Amino acid sequence: MREIIPYGRQDITEEDINIVVETLKSDYLTQGPRIAEFEEAFAEYCGSKYAVAVSNGTAALHLCALSLDVQKGDKVITTPITFAASANCVRYCGGEVVFADIDPDSYLLDINKVRELLENAPKGTYKGIIPVDFAGRAVNLEAFRKLADEHGLWIIEDSCHAPGGYFEDSKGNKQICGNGKFAELSIFSFHPVKHIASGEGGMITTDDEELYEKLLQLRTHGIVKGDEKYQNSIEFATGSSVMSKGVETYPNWYMEMQDLGYNYRITDFQAALGSSQLKRADDGLERRRELASQYYKAFQDKGYIKGQSGVVEGHAYHLYIIEVEDRMGLYNFLREQNIFAQIHYIPCHLMPYYRQFGWKEGDLPNSEEYYMHCISLPMFPTLTNEEQSFVIEKVNSFYEG
Ligand SMILES: *Cc1c(COP(=O)(O)O)cnc(C)c1O
Repeated sequence: MREIIPYGRQDITEEDINIVVETLKSDYLTQGPRIAEFEEAFAEYCGSKYAVAVSNGTAALHLCALSLDVQKGDKVITTPITFAASANCVRYCGGEVVFADIDPDSYLLDINKVRELLENAPKGTYKGIIPVDFAGRAVNLEAFRKLADEHGLWIIEDSCHAPGGYFEDSKGNKQICGNGKFAELSIFSFHPVKHIASGEGGMITTDDEELYEKLLQLRTHGIVKGDEKYQNSIEFATGSSVMSKGVETYPNWYMEMQDLGYNYRITDFQAALGSSQLKRADDGLERRRELASQYYKAFQDKGYIKGQSGVVEGHAYHLYIIEVEDRMGLYNFLREQNIFAQIHYIPCHLMPYYRQFGWKEGDLPNSEEYYMHCISLPMFPTLTNEEQSFVIEKVNSFYEG
């Protein structure tokens, strides 16, 4: 029997291991110099002004919702074909999630469905949109920005699947996911199934200095440090009105908790691993695109493949999805061959948690139809051509006998 071929797998090199070990031997386990290095390198990779590293992608989403001041009852639009965390961040803040249907060809949040929602509600009903670069395919954020501006909405781009992905704007320029030009905030995850693995880890990118400052503060308990930022007096800070007469600066130990924040920090050794992996991100992306094109060619003339990710400019191919009849049969058959394909995703609006708010079957037909047929085939840079051929052969043999 062959070894299991999963749908995604991390790749840890000797170089990765060495940098982590070196960091463990340094003076810093958390909040050391590797975090700022990772943030700078990641901002450069995306082309954004700022990047804030956090403990995971879900924490990144939560901080985004907090920094944009999502309040109880605020309505936010997202896609149901995503990992639940994209929607949950709105709920953490008491907001209301409104799911809009996907485009059946791209599998992305359908901008026309979003426009319909906005145009059929009184102005001010909705506060924001969370589009997802699902499977690695970049959302056209230029179009979403225009729509959001018409209605006074913010955008959080969930780019967990798409570091290095891009779309072409109306002038023909490549717009890299998370570059800060269209969305207020973009988020990434460094969970091992994603492009860049740091164990657990996440990143927020932005061009907005004010949001950047807020994120830094909320990442660590809402605490600020810096004389010019303090709200309490120097007399209070020094701790003695008598002794501190004439003192003009705050003592070194002083800090203020000005907001209700969290501990969403990443550790220094995770950041070291992330930086090391980031150096190979472009090679990994190239390999993913090569694998995608090989899948596409193998399946393009097969009648039993009803849809597939295909070859799309700028796609980062976190996943390679095909749509088939008898998806369950194929899934089980592949599993018998130790090919562990996966299903992305069970529509969020039909999770029991979201059903309690009234969501039901039939609400979002494109997403529900997609869910009945989708299956994600193995897709990761270290997948060999031989392994991929085995996967393709098994898919074909299931349908051709
Ligand atoms: C992985 C993922 C997240 C959450 O990231 P974690 O690091 O696992 O918390 C959020 N959104 C999408 C689309 C993801 O794939």
